[in-house]
Amino acid sequence: MKKITQCAIDGSHLPQYSERPITKMSAAISRKAAGSQNLQRQLKVRQGELSKSRIDPTQLDASLERYNKLDDFVPFAYFMLAADSSIIDANQAAEWLLGMPWLTLCRQRFAKLVCEESQSTFNAFLEKTFAIRQHQSCEVTLKIAGRMMWIEIKAIADPLLQTCRVAVSDITEHKRTERQLELATLAYRAIDEAILITDANNRIVTVNPAFTKLTGYTEGELLGQCIHLFKTDCHDSRFYLSIWKALRKTGHWQGEIWKRRKNGELYLEWLRINTNYDSNGKVLQHVAISSDITDRKRAEEKMWKRANFDQLTGLPNRYLFYDRVQLAVKQANREGLPMALMLLDLDRFKQINDTLGHDRGDSLLLEIARRLNHCVRETDTVARLGGDEFAIILNEMEDSVGIERIAQSLLQQLAGPFLLNGETVYISASIGIAFYPEDASEIEALLKNADQAMYDAKEAGRNRFSYFARTVQNASQRQPCLANDLRDALANYQLQLHYQPIMELASGVIYKAEALIRWRHPRYGWLSPTDFIAIAEKTGLIVEISDWVFKEAARQVLIWRRYFDRRFQISINGSPMLFHCAGDHQNSWFEHLRQKGLTADSIGVEIGEGVLMDASHVVSNTLFSFRDIGMPISIDDFGTGCLSLSCLQKFHIDYLKIDRSFVGKLLDQSNELMFCEAMIAMAHKLKIKVIAEGVETKDQCGLLKKMGCDYAQGYLFSKPLSAEAFEALLAKPE
Ligand code: C2E
Ligand code: MG
Ligand code: MG
Repeated sequence: MKKITQCAIDGSHLPQYSERPITKMSAAISRKAAGSQNLQRQLKVRQGELSKSRIDPTQLDASLERYNKLDDFVPFAYFMLAADSSIIDANQAAEWLLGMPWLTLCRQRFAKLVCEESQSTFNAFLEKTFAIRQHQSCEVTLKIAGRMMWIEIKAIADPLLQTCRVAVSDITEHKRTERQLELATLAYRAIDEAILITDANNRIVTVNPAFTKLTGYTEGELLGQCIHLFKTDCHDSRFYLSIWKALRKTGHWQGEIWKRRKNGELYLEWLRINTNYDSNGKVLQHVAISSDITDRKRAEEKMWKRANFDQLTGLPNRYLFYDRVQLAVKQANREGLPMALMLLDLDRFKQINDTLGHDRGDSLLLEIARRLNHCVRETDTVARLGGDEFAIILNEMEDSVGIERIAQSLLQQLAGPFLLNGETVYISASIGIAFYPEDASEIEALLKNADQAMYDAKEAGRNRFSYFARTVQNASQRQPCLANDLRDALANYQLQLHYQPIMELASGVIYKAEALIRWRHPRYGWLSPTDFIAIAEKTGLIVEISDWVFKEAARQVLIWRRYFDRRFQISINGSPMLFHCAGDHQNSWFEHLRQKGLTADSIGVEIGEGVLMDASHVVSNTLFSFRDIGMPISIDDFGTGCLSLSCLQKFHIDYLKIDRSFVGKLLDQSNELMFCEAMIAMAHKLKIKVIAEGVETKDQCGLLKKMGCDYAQGYLFSKPLSAEAFEALLAKPE
């Protein structure tokens, strides 16, 4: 088939040969040599035929030479195969394709190179080629030197030579790409994530089935549409602008976005957008991959809520509270404004739970949470730490007056009646307050200090607030300071009297009040008597203060006797110190009353049991002088000491004030009920009137009335009030 020329033998016309290794080169030469024998044989056959068809052999020679050259230059592999697939001839491209020299090739059958799974295809193809004698093609795989290769075979048989010419091209790469494409398409269609591809103008060019399933639109409804179709008003224009900005800058964006399904339903998806560019950097497509995360998000939110919020009240729980404190501390550091932490513990909540049941206890807590939230700003946090313990974080507290107002309003809010399934319940709370950074620079210490302050509030009689700075723990440091301040308090008009009404139970009329002192401290705000009376007693300032209290009460009673009730009487609290120090200040009091035109019964004095039990000469004389002039004397907090009956008679005591620890536990059949009954009966026998302290509920009031108690004082009627507020109360129609 091939004509051998000198140039063909040394291979000089083929630059590729000169670069091949020596072995390949010699193989190529021998291919030519051996090929000549083949050619001779074929030529003979052809010449025989040609002579019959009278074709000029020299013309044939020339055409064969042309073919020969062509054969070596064709870019694809060329074989001549016999009917049993023996390789009769092959071109250079075939040698390169199969990586075998011509001689090796021509010693084997092509079928041997074909992989087992392609054998039947190849055999059928060869058979058909020889049978039909038209162009045939097929794709088979070869295995050469352990490597798989996909080839496409095109063949036509030469009936004259009983051979066929076979053109072989390597389609491995193409097949691989095709396979990858197939897989990619499969994945594209099967993937759970919704895929949408737009052109550079944001028109939808394709969507996968997951996308149509997610949005409810059909493919036909979407193709050609603009991507704005999915815009919702859940995000503002700045949000969408930021997406386009990121895409322009980096070609990429990912994040959460709300979209609307065809049926109008909103859903949240996690969206990733990537951009494809052409070789000039021009945008070709945007590929958006998204998945619906609405349920996951809701479940996460639910879990987060469960972990961070109290199930009953919906308030932040201890964990979230801790987080918020940390944030508040950071904010306080940043802005240089102190933060206040309040710990609020309900007084006697357990009693309510035990007597009214847990359902009502829960309802009470729920209502308390609502009322507490009502008292604070939106930026503040009210948390439930557990049981009946609440915490409040107050940011940016510039002065203690602000915090005082909030604490007062919290107590006031809780003081109102709670209606629980037809049952009216009253409750109070004790509040401890600590400031960051003044009271502690660490969160743990701050909490501890607020807790300590709360316990101090409890100890001081509950239903009040207390600052950590004024707690017992700090008392040693603060006391000298408070003592100094107290000296100026009178001169600077920082002391004030509040009045708590005492109601006559039989008539429901108020014509008595107890004067209770308050100190408006320039730095700490309102201080309760428990915070400073002991200091006043220790420093002796109590005498001066008591004088002021007396005169202020006298001034007030004069007004109220004139305008409200001629019987009006104000009782003041007499410190034991007044009775111990011999002096004639009581005479000056009597003189003061006389000068004002007030009778001695206009001001009463409340003393503790301890004063009567101290039988010293000085104390007795003072008490007698009060008795002689007709100034009423009450025994305060009666029942807490061990006072003898003879003392009551000896000093002509006018009133017994039953301590609120008894009144607070008054229940039908209770021990406290018995004690109260006994106290009232005994007092009445001694012609002493009885005042019940700390009356908070209608039930307590009803029981006391039934027992014949004369007067009652407590939050049920009113808390201690400023003079103006008290007047408003008196002026109120029944
Ligand atoms: P106290 O004389 O037994 O006064 C009654 C206290 O009980 C007052 O506390 C009052 O606010 C509180 N209270 C009244 N009703 C209720 C109630 O229904 N429930 C509860 N939980 N508490 C109620 P405050 O004003 O803090 O006074 C505390 C104590 O300080 C007084 O107890 C009294 O011993 C003393 N104190 C008050 N003012 C003076 C004063 O001018 N001089 C002297 N030496 N001591 C005073
Ligand atoms: Mg009192
Ligand atoms: Mg009392």
